[in-house]
Amino acid sequence: MSPWFEQQPYGDGLIRLTEPHVHEILKANVWWLRGTDRDVVVDAGLGVVALRDGVPALFARDPLAVLSHAHLDHVGGAYEFRERAGHPADAAALAAGVPASLDGPELARLLGAGEVGADFPDRMIDALPGPGYDPAAYRVAPVTLTRTVEDGDRIDLGGRSLTVLHLPGHTPGSVALLEEHTGALYSGDVVYDGHLVDDLPGSDVAAYRRSAELLCGLEVSVVHPGHGRSFDRERLHHIARTYLRRTAGDGEQPLTAQ
Ligand SMILES: [Zn+2]
Repeated sequence: MSPWFEQQPYGDGLIRLTEPHVHEILKANVWWLRGTDRDVVVDAGLGVVALRDGVPALFARDPLAVLSHAHLDHVGGAYEFRERAGHPADAAALAAGVPASLDGPELARLLGAGEVGADFPDRMIDALPGPGYDPAAYRVAPVTLTRTVEDGDRIDLGGRSLTVLHLPGHTPGSVALLEEHTGALYSGDVVYDGHLVDDLPGSDVAAYRRSAELLCGLEVSVVHPGHGRSFDRERLHHIARTYLRRTAGDGEQPLTAQ
């Protein structure tokens, strides 16, 4: 396995892959779940190093990649998978090739990152994956979905299954995956333990608030997010309630003065 990736076993056929040399803002989790029949990989990393080169074992059983949403840090390696699933509302963005750069200021501009963009470092990686690597040549390949998933769809891995939850707001096609048998929620960028980003082009505060309300009522055992550490239900509900408080009064149609 390439030192570009770090692999952390969580037990019960679950492995987390991360990219330690990627800046916090873009350091996303790749969740590798093993079923008896097949594997699912939730998100596909930044794509600086090919997953196939870095973690060849990941491809041993021809896994289905489920893309939580169309942002570079989650879909950089998506092109490497034979089967790629995602929500139709993000399909066009994926097919067009998502905005991507390792140059912080350029990325902030490409993403239209607004206030958040001011925190981007000069370079989004703190080491090169190998001699001769040119960060300026970094792009994310366009991705066509081979399977679209809608709210309520089930993905069967054999011995375990995932239910798709469409939770828009961060992007129109953001999805989370709930393994009802264990209560584990794979949440992408819908929710992680940090400031939830709702001001990118394509973000929708009103939709995000509805998603957060749904999260407040979700009886999960653990959340495996798109960024950072996993957390429990209490923390999930706290983060969702905090978001609802922060955005109270936002996301509604402004009243027209007569
Ligand atoms: Zn995102």
